[in-house]
Amino acid sequence: MTSTEPSIFSRIVAREIPADVVFESDAVIAFRDIAPQAPVHLLVVPKTEQYRDVAELAAGDPALLAELVATASRLADELADGHFRLVFNTGAGAGQTVFHVHAHVLAGGLEEASLG
Ligand code: ADP
Repeated sequence: MTSTEPSIFSRIVAREIPADVVFESDAVIAFRDIAPQAPVHLLVVPKTEQYRDVAELAAGDPALLAELVATASRLADELADGHFRLVFNTGAGAGQTVFHVHAHVLAGGLEEASLG
């Protein structure tokens, strides 16, 4: 795939490929990760793919980053116990594979799963 083709998440926004969408607004979409790493594992994604990662998003549109975080928090309230881990893999060396910024929201039974 070349960089001029839509990202896999843009194809989900366009309903070209299926996803279990749990929330959508004008600017943001949230759906269940296809390979969940926690009882609740969502991806919260800006509909625009102009930002590759969270650092670019923070610099370019902090209000949109704030909307991602607020959406994650609200969905953790609705779908889990309100407690959640928010992960932005940033760069291939950190495991990022889709270069359309997305927040991983991990929730449900994570008390024992500490980082590091
Ligand atoms: P990683 O693949 O290492 O988690 P990313 O942070 O770039 O790297 O995350 C991409 C995420 O997108 C992965 O968790 C993957 O399971 C998820 N994913 C890929 N394709 C789909 C899809 N069609 N529907 C839902 N989630 C998807």
